[in-house]
Amino acid sequence: MCQKAVYPGSFDPITYGHLDIIKRAQEIFSEVIIAVAHNPRKKPLFSVEERVEMIKRASRDDIEGLIIEDFDGLVIDYTSKKKAKVIIRGLRMISDFEYEFQMALTNRKLAPQLETIFLMPQESYSYLSSSLLKEAASLGADLSHFVPDFVEKALKNKLYKSS
Ligand code: ADP
Repeated sequence: MCQKAVYPGSFDPITYGHLDIIKRAQEIFSEVIIAVAHNPRKKPLFSVEERVEMIKRASRDDIEGLIIEDFDGLVIDYTSKKKAKVIIRGLRMISDFEYEFQMALTNRKLAPQLETIFLMPQESYSYLSSSLLKEAASLGADLSHFVPDFVEKALKNKLYKSS
């Protein structure tokens, strides 16, 4: 019945954890819209254009039914504008739960016609976060298990340039 889902996030940058969630969502929905938030409050390392471009490159082989674009404002407004009824979020650890639960229930109050669905990544990605990767990259860690090669290069370029 439901064909479309929106997967919103900062994706600063995209990791194998995000890509795992995207794959799972593609198994369920015929159209998955990756909505990259501008999120200036979070002071992203990469511009929104760079983040969109990296997701496009990382999902090159699996682009069927995938739309990748940036958005500003409330996730619920964007989701309704896209005529989707489902918001996808990834759940890694118990630590994600409280924040995600609050956000899902707030969104439900504001837009009861929308449903948030949580997907769990493969266990080995369940501790992976973009912010941790940025820290590890700045200390020169090998990130090949966590992000595609070109993302690792972009991260290190950006961090070395800005230090
Ligand atoms: P946001 O700023 O919206 O939290 P993120 O890019 O950090 O943006 O995360 C977007 C979504 O992807 C969130 O639901 C988050 O829980 C999920 N996510 C992030 N990293 C992973 C991962 N390693 N495995 C599964 N889900 C993840």
